[in-house]
Amino acid sequence: MKLSYKYRLYPNRRQNEALGEMLYWFCQLYNAGLQQRIEAYRRRAVSLTYKTQADELKLLRTEVPELGNYSFSAEQQVLRRLNKTFTAFFGRVKRGAKAGFPRFKASARFHAADFRFGDGLTMKSGHRLSILGVSGLVKVKWHRDWPKDATCGSAIITRQAGKWSVVFQLDVPDVHSVVGPETVGVDAGLSALVATSDGALVERPRWTKTAAKGLRKRQRAVSRSRKPNLRSKRRKKAKERLAAYSRRVANRRADYLHKLAASIVARYDRIAVEELNIQGLARSMLAKDVLDAAWGQLMSLIAYKAERAGKLMVKVDPRGTSQECPCCGARVEKTLADRVHRCPDCGLVEDRDVAAANVVEFRAFGHNRFRPGSGLRTPSRRGAAELVREAVGF
Ligand SMILES: [Zn+2]
Repeated sequence: MKLSYKYRLYPNRRQNEALGEMLYWFCQLYNAGLQQRIEAYRRRAVSLTYKTQADELKLLRTEVPELGNYSFSAEQQVLRRLNKTFTAFFGRVKRGAKAGFPRFKASARFHAADFRFGDGLTMKSGHRLSILGVSGLVKVKWHRDWPKDATCGSAIITRQAGKWSVVFQLDVPDVHSVVGPETVGVDAGLSALVATSDGALVERPRWTKTAAKGLRKRQRAVSRSRKPNLRSKRRKKAKERLAAYSRRVANRRADYLHKLAASIVARYDRIAVEELNIQGLARSMLAKDVLDAAWGQLMSLIAYKAERAGKLMVKVDPRGTSQECPCCGARVEKTLADRVHRCPDCGLVEDRDVAAANVVEFRAFGHNRFRPGSGLRTPSRRGAAELVREAVGF
């Protein structure tokens, strides 16, 4: 399977400029390639291919010496990227969709360069990067090692809000293992972020509230500065502050969800989740909660980590999971305000979200803590308590 490992770069001032210049020239190349395609089509009614353009790259590099300074294969990637936008464009035309002809790019919006690892971009000892056309070695903040058995195929240099990173695309062999017997159902809770069938209720971290407040405050500052008597410089500053804050919130949320997903995957072998239509939900009244809880992000993290660990994630039909008794299967109607599941048929009383998680587990594996039977087993409640304690600490 493929993994992306991202690291911050700390170029010195000269390297910072050189990287910016490199993207500038790659952007020029992109636009020149686009221009050439447009002209070829207008004058001769032919559409150029990637190959024609790549064949001319060698000559172009002698005519424009700046281009000659940088990695040949990275420049081929620029032309490939252009080719991709055209393929997508023709695809849209064919389908009769709104086509949107490929556009020229402003160099300020050209943020990435693709390298074949080891070709124009190599790693030197002490985790420093050598990049063709950039003098010296660029410092990398090596916050984690690659997996032991990983090989790197390509690397992308990116610029986000003036900060540089490198993303290594790693290949690791697929994990083949026998999946263990411990099962769990995981439900997106109403009040809790996550509920598990063995009884864990992971609350939404408290900082999500302060984060929402902080975002609103900065959004107001931006809309206030729209008034004409205020200078646009001030507006720009307010926007920058908002962007920086949103990025911090997103990083923090991603960090939290990564750890939570890791601890769920570490604990259980087979994980059942609801197949939620996030987009459908987002349009309904639950929008804010669902987006805040970032359930979709958590699901994809669990899926990815489970695959990495040779474990299993199963998605089940989400319809009516909160209205069903996990013990006897009776339908027990609840409104959003009902926090507890009380079954009039079998007498089961359970937290509503934990009950739903048990329904999810039953749908996936044919058993849960109230209805044993499939040979698999639900872990003890002690494990659930540990999960909650861990999640509070993140
Ligand atoms: Zn019941």
